[in-house]
Amino acid sequence: MPDKVDISGKCLCGAVSFKAKAEGRHLGACHCDMCRKWCSGPFLEIECGSDVNFKGENHISVYSSSDWGERGFCKTCGSNLFYRLKDSGSTGVAAGLVDDLSGFTMIAQVCIDDKPPYYSFAEKTKKLACAEMFALYGGDT
Ligand SMILES: [Zn+2]
Ligand SMILES: [Zn+2]
Repeated sequence: MPDKVDISGKCLCGAVSFKAKAEGRHLGACHCDMCRKWCSGPFLEIECGSDVNFKGENHISVYSSSDWGERGFCKTCGSNLFYRLKDSGSTGVAAGLVDDLSGFTMIAQVCIDDKPPYYSFAEKTKKLACAEMFALYGGDT
């Protein structure tokens, strides 16, 4: 088990900030249809388990996007904040919020079968199809 990494960050307007323990200096990308609708591109996230503390919680709106997952965003500026699994509380924090990502690398891309042809990442990463990801982390298509 690699050491956890303290991270902090805030949304575009600053109403919501957080401190969390990342599970490593790692980013993941999700290419699924829902994430791309939400972000206009892949959702880049940092896995933090359930170890995330938000400040300004009254500025957070949570959208239940499926039976298994929900997505938080800032009510004021609309910044995407997190994707969270309802059962486990396991949270992926939006990478764009984080103050300092030095030393972080992208290690995984999920729902690679949903990725449209008009972009691709050059980084060498693990790639999982939607069905493989659901088998690992729960949820359904
Ligand atoms: Zn905001
Ligand atoms: Zn997704």
